[in-house]
Amino acid sequence: MRDRGVPGESRGIWSRRPELLRPTALVRVVLIGICLVVAIDLAVIETAWASPTASQRQQSAKVVPARAENLPYFGPNASVEQAVLAATIADPRSGVSSTAKCTTGWFTIGWSVQGRPIVACRLGSGTSRMTARMAVTGAIHGGWERNTKVLVEMFLNYFVANPGAIPYGLVVYFVPVMNPDGVALGTSSSAAWNARGVDLNRNYDSGNWSRNTYGTPGGRYGPTGVRIGGGGTAPFSEPESKAIRDFVQGRGIRTLVSYHSGYLSVSAKDGGGGIAEPLAKLIARITGYPYIAKWTAYKLTGQLVDWANRVGVKGVDVDLPSRYVYDYTKNLAALRAVMTTLR
Ligand SMILES: [Zn+2]
Repeated sequence: MRDRGVPGESRGIWSRRPELLRPTALVRVVLIGICLVVAIDLAVIETAWASPTASQRQQSAKVVPARAENLPYFGPNASVEQAVLAATIADPRSGVSSTAKCTTGWFTIGWSVQGRPIVACRLGSGTSRMTARMAVTGAIHGGWERNTKVLVEMFLNYFVANPGAIPYGLVVYFVPVMNPDGVALGTSSSAAWNARGVDLNRNYDSGNWSRNTYGTPGGRYGPTGVRIGGGGTAPFSEPESKAIRDFVQGRGIRTLVSYHSGYLSVSAKDGGGGIAEPLAKLIARITGYPYIAKWTAYKLTGQLVDWANRVGVKGVDVDLPSRYVYDYTKNLAALRAVMTTLR
């Protein structure tokens, strides 16, 4: 009897409340609310599934800022950098071999034209302004020069196994693949370039950038030795070279050793006399490779090391004798000698 209530009393209570608060109206409002929440959730989930690449990029952007300078490399935020490094791993699309072990965690410094990540590994110690920072890079050219990726990975594995070999107060960044689209393309001559056919080592703001670029006639530059548009549409028109520029400048990197293969040489600023010339000569002495001050085989434009020289970074190109050799032992010795001079 009590549960049923008195019809008159019940009407009396609810009749004093606004229409919206009547029991049937309340139930409707709650149901509509639940439907709205479910619909919004489904829309979010569908968006994520519909575009996995975009989703991956967003996720990566949360972990690693797209622009390296967003991440201070010294001072009170140094611990943030450590956390970021520990939280990220290499995307297999980066072209880095699974045998290359980055104990501190791979992190993404940028993306290729086709959306492949360019990844780096940070070893060494120091988070202050006094810390020296260098980068060891491979595969700016894919195709025939893919062995440089493997050489940089071999270096990384050595320093992971022998952390004491990096002098105290020196941070070393390893970037095995600067051109992941080229590396993904295979071993053909056209795999040297990025996905837009740009020679990434001719796309830097070096002071002598040009739209058309030059190489050995009959080689991968074709019978004329001229590549129309090989330099890109402007300095830093390509996302891969922008990523390296922002990475080097954002992290305060002051020394960069970039590996090529096929022209047995060590070089720095074209024409000689640049800030990296002593380091280039040191590497040449230890490896036995000839130091070449001025390239005469063809005209060089838009090179990474020439841009580096302009912005106060010591950039050295080491060119392995061929695509088939690593010369690991002598190149490791040279790299260790360079590290010693930086501390
Ligand atoms: Zn090269």
